[in-house]
This record gives sequence, C-alpha cells and structure tokens, in this order.
Amino acid sequence: MLTNDELAKWDRESFFHPSTALGQFARGEAPQRIIKGGEGVFITDRDGNRLLDGFAGLYCVNVGYGRTEIADAIAKQAHELAYYHAYAGHGSEANITLAKMVMDRAPEGMARVYFGLGGSDANETNIKLIWYYNNILGRPAKKKIISRWRGYHGSGLMTGSLTGLELFHKKFDLPLAQVIHTEAPYHFRRPELTMSEADFVAHCVERLEALIAAEGADTIAAFIGEPVLGTGGIVPPPAGYWPAIQKVLDRHDILLIADEVVTGFGRLGSMFGSDHYGLKPDLITCAKGLTSAYAPLSATIVGNRMWEVLARGTDENGVLGHGWTYSAHPIGAAAGIANLKLIDKLGLVQNAGETGAYLNAAMRAAVGDHPNVGEVRGEGMLCAVELVADREGRQFFEPAQGIGAKVVAAMLRRGVIARAMPQGDVLGFAPPLCLTREEADQIVEVTSEAIAEVLG
Ligand code: PMP
Repeated sequence: MLTNDELAKWDRESFFHPSTALGQFARGEAPQRIIKGGEGVFITDRDGNRLLDGFAGLYCVNVGYGRTEIADAIAKQAHELAYYHAYAGHGSEANITLAKMVMDRAPEGMARVYFGLGGSDANETNIKLIWYYNNILGRPAKKKIISRWRGYHGSGLMTGSLTGLELFHKKFDLPLAQVIHTEAPYHFRRPELTMSEADFVAHCVERLEALIAAEGADTIAAFIGEPVLGTGGIVPPPAGYWPAIQKVLDRHDILLIADEVVTGFGRLGSMFGSDHYGLKPDLITCAKGLTSAYAPLSATIVGNRMWEVLARGTDENGVLGHGWTYSAHPIGAAAGIANLKLIDKLGLVQNAGETGAYLNAAMRAAVGDHPNVGEVRGEGMLCAVELVADREGRQFFEPAQGIGAKVVAAMLRRGVIARAMPQGDVLGFAPPLCLTREEADQIVEVTSEAIAEVLG
C-alpha cells in the first residue's frame, strides 16, 4: 500500500484540483487532506482523523456515507448493464424506473424528466431548452436570462455566467452577454438598515421590474433562482419574496427555473423547495440529493407548458439536437433508485425538517448573542452563521482578514467540518439529512468554541 507521504506527493505533482489555489497547493502551502472512508455523518482521513461532515460533502451526501443499499445497487447494475445510451428512445429498467420515481415526487404541473450528470450541465440543458422553446414559438429575441447576484448555478460558460459571484466571473471573461443579474433576496445585507422584510421584498420587486423595463420583456426568456440561496451565503428568502417575484414573471411571460440542486429531495423538510415556497416553476434543476452523490446524476424536470412546445418543435424539426453520452447513465440511475427508496424508508425528508429546526434553534441559542454574530439563519437542514465586525452598525470584516476561514479551521481542529462560504464571513452548515440531535449538538458546541477561540 502507498504511504501517506507518497500519496501526498503524487497529489501535489499530478492532480489539478477544482476550486483550489493551484500554485500554493503544488508548493505544499495550501491545505491537503486525503479522505479514506465514511460512515453515517462522519468521514475519516488517511491521517486517522474522524470528522463530522457538517456540509455533507458539498451538500450532497444526503443519506450519509457508507450506505450498503446504494453500493450494492450500483454493483448489481454494473454487472448487469454498466452502460447503454439513452438516445433515440433507448432506455433501461434503471433509468425508466428512476424517471417514474422522480415524476411521482415532482411538484404539480411537471411533464417529463431529462437526466444529465451534474448541476452545471442540467442548467446548461435548461437554457438550451428555453431558447429552443422561444424559437419554436417564433420569439427569437426573447433569450436573456435573469439570475440573482449571489446565486450559484454552476461553473460552465453559461452556468458560470448565471452564477452571481465575482470569483466565478473574474478573469474568465464572464458573464456572457445573454445573462443579466438582479438583487439577491438577502435581507441581512439590505441596502438600508431601516428596511423591514416587507420593504425589502418591495425593493427586490422594484429592482426586477426596473431591469425588465430597461431590457424589454420581449428580450427576456427566463428567471433562475435557488429557493434558498446556497453558495452565495445560505440565505432563506424573506417572507413573501417568491409569490411577489412569481407575479412579476407571470405578468411579463418570463419562465421560471427553480434551481433545486441543493434543495431537491428533502433538504428543506419538503420534497422540493418549490413545494416549500409554493413556486410554480417551468423547469426544476436537480442533482446532488438525487443520488446523494453515490454516482453523478442530474435531472431537469420539464413543466407542462414547455413540454408541449418542445414536442411540437421536434414534430416540425426532427430530433432534438441535445444530449450527452452519459445522459441517464444506468449506474447513476441505479444509485438514484436506491437513494430515493432510502430517503423514504428512513423518513429523511421529515428528519431534515425536524432535526434541521433543532440545529437552527440550538445554533441561535448558542451563538446568536455573540457580539460578532450578525445573524443565524436557516431553513430545514441548512444553517448559516454570519460573522460581523460590529453587530449594531452591521460592519463587516475586511475580506483579507479571512475571519470565516479561521473559524472553520478552528472547527476542523475540533473534528467538525463547516464551510466558509465563498463571499463574506459566513459559516455554512448543510449536514446529511440523517443527522441526529446529538450530532447537531456536537456541531453547535464546536461552532461556539471556535468562534470564542478566534473572536473572543
Ligand atoms: N446549482 C446549485 C444551486 C448548486 O449548488 C450547484 C453546485 N453547488 C450547481 C448548480 C452546480 O452543480 P455541479 O457542481 O454538480 O455542476
């Protein structure tokens, strides 16, 4: 067996890691961790550390690690039929069954599900379907997509453009011209401290209306949003935000994409965030929780009004010119079936709601009054602690101080993984949906100790 030192060297010399400081990593100046195994909400690394994964990988290992039901289903599928494509009407028992299971769980008004590999490609599919749709309807100018600042929708060319975080644009010549951004529903960072939630919703609506008026509704095809902002800071919307936005979109005939890559399949305590907030999307993006990341698989769920037009489009033009070699991969589908069955069997949607509420309440009780905690917020099994330099005046820390990252490092030394969200000093928590109250207590206790260590 390779020694840890050998592996670490090969890693630095061979492996181009995503979202990593490349030069620093190669020189051994950036963190390196080699993971060995996982069980429940814990992972172990090659140095013998056992860590409570308070972020479920990248909010994706929703059923927890080490589930033999899913591993066995993957092995069985690999033996029986590792692969056949899904083009031109080909399917297999696994991907057809998963399609039925997804549609049985989907919110009302949805017609079909298209499978890809990850969240980015699913959103890429969404935009192409929307452009196709408007071309079939004879509206070739109606193509722009509105996204929100701080939204996260992937890191491809189009999806990186939709993502509203500077890090994903800077030095990449993004965003592309067809993408425009509007205000994030981030009440804590409202422009004026005196704005109530209701005032702030009215402000978001005003900004959206102004953008639509400036660009022209006949040039705007769709609006994309996560039911709860994820990577941009784990921010549940203020009360009334989604109904107000939906009204504006309906009035201007703008489609809605609900990006449920994080919220799909239970994380908010509802099967979908669209159910949770009463959204009526035309497209729903799913990935992560669909297979709990045991195999890569994404889904684009297409609503009735788009489906009818798409089907008409191929009647007129022939086969839809869109598909990946690995669309609806049977091994991903087998993982998805076993995962969705496990979510049902273990009652994980309900647990996400109940234990998530417990985690949020315990976090608020433990650190909510700390002078450097601006806000504790969350929904379901999502929680965030926003750190500030001054609570009363809502002054933020200088980004160069890296306060969030320091607190996360102090937590790691105590055996709990949280995520320093990429913009602002926000500690993010998105544990597996099988989290217990005792494990939630451990997360909260370690957060409290780490904040005290770094900020006093
Ligand atoms: N949409 C959302 C809401 C996400 O959180 C992510 C990934 N964090 C994506 C899309 C992109 O998914 P992937 O990384 O699988 O391409």
